[in-house]
Amino acid sequence: MTRIPMMAGNWKMNNSISEGVVLAQEISNQYDKRAWANVEIVICPPFVDLKPVKTVFEFDRVPVEIASQNVYWEQSGAYTGEVSVSMIKEIGCRYSIVGHSERRELFGETDEEVNKKVKALFDANIGAIVCVGESLGVRDEGDTLEYVCAQVRAAFAGVDSTKAETSVVAYEPIWAIGTGRTATPEQAEEVCKAIRNTLEELFGEDTAQAMRVLYGGSVNPGNVEGLMAQENIDGGLVGGASLKAESFVPLIEACSDNED
Ligand code: PEP
Repeated sequence: MTRIPMMAGNWKMNNSISEGVVLAQEISNQYDKRAWANVEIVICPPFVDLKPVKTVFEFDRVPVEIASQNVYWEQSGAYTGEVSVSMIKEIGCRYSIVGHSERRELFGETDEEVNKKVKALFDANIGAIVCVGESLGVRDEGDTLEYVCAQVRAAFAGVDSTKAETSVVAYEPIWAIGTGRTATPEQAEEVCKAIRNTLEELFGEDTAQAMRVLYGGSVNPGNVEGLMAQENIDGGLVGGASLKAESFVPLIEACSDNED
């Protein structure tokens, strides 16, 4: 089963509209059809940047998808501050991140809420990039696989398995996010493999083999090759290194089959 790798940049709450347009333009200027072949590139800017960033890539005809960093499950109504699935769809989002550890930790997002968001995205045919990952405490207790696989089960509980293929799971150990401390390729592969086994339990072998599992946590041009060489790692979800074209473009090229 060949899975097209994904390189996704999560800008978090960085880049105003004008800064986002400049960064998108810098990435676009480095577009190389051959070196960027066979990799799906996704940029996840703040909500306000989504349309302007998409416009840059569309205008330049550079194949970059946009994704929101979060979404709300209700369709419309009195939910001050929230943005619905139909709203991000209208802007042209192909995906939305769901359950990033910062949302879980800082905003109290629960597994149940993650599941509602995944279901709402599935209903609209938008792919969920579902983030899972353990704290250092969980890892030190030796409970990583159990903890992460339980998060995967909870995120996809009761979803329509025929639509699961469009979704992606990002394994992001919390202790590696923004810390400069990356999981070793072996540590990351062990968990990504367990995630794929869990997807198989939920959706069957064909779907599990088709779904992409990403690694995230201090990925940079110096460590990307070793991570991407792992059998069950199909790309990256990248924070810090996605904020500059000079560090993000090499990650795209490392994910591509045609990097020579
Ligand atoms: C992230 O926020 O998803 C992330 C992986 O961040 P960083 O690459 O900066 O560790």
